[in-house]
Amino acid sequence: MDAPPHVIARVRGEYARSERDRSCHFFPLPQDSTLPSVLRAYCGFDIMPGQAEALDGPAGMPCLRCLMAAALADSSV
Ligand SMILES: [Zn+2]
Repeated sequence: MDAPPHVIARVRGEYARSERDRSCHFFPLPQDSTLPSVLRAYCGFDIMPGQAEALDGPAGMPCLRCLMAAALADSSV
C-alpha cells in the first residue's frame, strides 16, 4: 500500500494565533528524507516543524485550498 503523498498537520494549540493556524493544512512530503526548516502547505501556509502537530486524518476545520490541492495531487498519481 502506497503512503499518502502528503501529511496533514496543523499548528499546535499553544502556537496558533488565527483561525488559519488552527485549520488542518496538507503538506506535500519532501522528496528526500531531510526535514526542511519550514514546511509549506499546498495553500502556501508555512509552518515550523517544531510547531506542527501531525494528524492521522483531517480534524477540526480543514483548509479548503489545501483540500482541493491535495485531491488534485491524489488524482495525478
Ligand atoms: Zn492550507
